[in-house]
Amino acid sequence: MATVEDREAILRTRLRELEHRLLGIEAELDSHSSKDWEELAVEREEDEVLEGMGQSGRAEIDRIRAALGRVADGSYGFCVRCGEPISDERLDILPATPFCRNCAV
Ligand SMILES: [Zn+2]
Repeated sequence: MATVEDREAILRTRLRELEHRLLGIEAELDSHSSKDWEELAVEREEDEVLEGMGQSGRAEIDRIRAALGRVADGSYGFCVRCGEPISDERLDILPATPFCRNCAV
């Protein structure tokens, strides 16, 4: 069975990956200061896709940081809504979740 330390290591690894990916996305967006009109149109579409990825990535980073905060204050693994323990099976799949299965919408 995974310990809180195991979960924390998983969360930190995931956080590093996401931060790395976001830096790449921002660099790619910055590099699009461009050329002729046709290329601009293509790049604008790409930018929308990249920005969408950036937004979902940032939302996940926020969830992981909040989970790491709960590791630090000892409340990790308990539902923030009802206070019941979150099952290991659920944390295996969603290590950053703040809710037990009953409270997750
Ligand atoms: Zn709950």
